[in-house]
Amino acid sequence: MAALLSRFFSRAADILWPRTCAVEGCPRVSDRPGRHICSTCFASLPFHEAGGACSVCGALVMAETHHSFVCETCRLDPPAFEFARSAVFYREPVDRMIMAFKYRKSTWLCEDLVDLLEGAVRAKLAFHDIDVIMPVPLHQNRLRERGYNQSAILARSLAKRINRRVDETSLVRTRDTEHQARLSGDERRKNLKGAFAVTSPSLVRGRLVLLVDDIMTSGATLSHCTRPLLDAGAAGVWCATVARATLTSFAW
Ligand SMILES: [Zn+2]
Ligand SMILES: [Zn+2]
Repeated sequence: MAALLSRFFSRAADILWPRTCAVEGCPRVSDRPGRHICSTCFASLPFHEAGGACSVCGALVMAETHHSFVCETCRLDPPAFEFARSAVFYREPVDRMIMAFKYRKSTWLCEDLVDLLEGAVRAKLAFHDIDVIMPVPLHQNRLRERGYNQSAILARSLAKRINRRVDETSLVRTRDTEHQARLSGDERRKNLKGAFAVTSPSLVRGRLVLLVDDIMTSGATLSHCTRPLLDAGAAGVWCATVARATLTSFAW
């Protein structure tokens, strides 16, 4: 009933206050109920799909691969998580939207971004097996500064949509690390060592955890979140992010 009512009000609001598409330069009004990206722009977002992908980190390779293909990065330096999958590439217009969502309080973009995240989780992971969804935590200093954890907002909405529990307290960030985006791969790993901890192992033990974040770059953050979860007895850790970036995506 609540979901029906909320759909009704969202449709009524769309009629009363039509929204211009959130993609810069698009003059259309959003025709997706309760959303800010129009269907034409949504369909042309840079989806993270190609001929083949690494079965572990989900990195794309341009050739067809067998389902258990593992990329060189994962072979040489295996990540702690079992799988990571993303919805779109971190480039125009997704990068601007994520930056606005993350740093400029544009949390109204949440449902559009979760449309992407949910699509990737349903298509690329055996999501029925997931027990609990956890956002990558922010350190409390950063949380105070920003006022919200963008990954927690994504995790809450995704959990509702795929009918899973969200746990925002069992995994915490114990060290206020520098911005990862400005660091090289090696520096990222050093910067994150011991930065995360599990506060309630009993809530983690035996559970298959889906870690949610907005962007995955080297996977170092997700790997460092995974270790304490596995140490606490998690049955497995999978990861899903809206976007996939490379280190050069942040060259600016
Ligand atoms: Zn548009
Ligand atoms: Zn890989």
